[in-house]
Amino acid sequence: MQTPIRKLSTFKRIALVAHDNKKAELIEWAVYNKRALAQHRLYGTGTTGSLIEQALGQSVSKFLSGPLGGDQQIGASIAEAKLDILIFFWDPMEAQPHDPDIKALLRVAVTWNIPFACDRATADFILTSPLMLEEYEILVPDYTQYTTRLQR
Ligand code: PGA
Repeated sequence: MQTPIRKLSTFKRIALVAHDNKKAELIEWAVYNKRALAQHRLYGTGTTGSLIEQALGQSVSKFLSGPLGGDQQIGASIAEAKLDILIFFWDPMEAQPHDPDIKALLRVAVTWNIPFACDRATADFILTSPLMLEEYEILVPDYTQYTTRLQR
């Protein structure tokens, strides 16, 4: 059977999320990379999205605030192939009330083999990759075994 693929276009749909203690860092990163980000479509959880929009002057499609379901909306969009890349600066030093949602979002990003960064260095490596401006085929892991097992 052929490996399923997801085609990414020459521009990417990038989701941006940062916990409160990490928002300043994400905004600084976004401003530093303003020109590169302008070539892509931006999405974000409610508060992060608004702050990035203000800082860059570039429109950001906003989901609900993370603790109110925004992380889950982003996860669902990844599963539906509506987002290509996740930049998620989560806070390793503070527990969050929506911890299960965070875990679910990280899990779904791996499930669908999308590029995602949880820190600034990785975000730099992703954004400066030549693949950001090229078409790219993501090889989606074959989950037919799981679905057929459930149907049995
Ligand atoms: P926020 O959500 O951008 O609405 O603050 C971020 C999060 O905690 O997931």
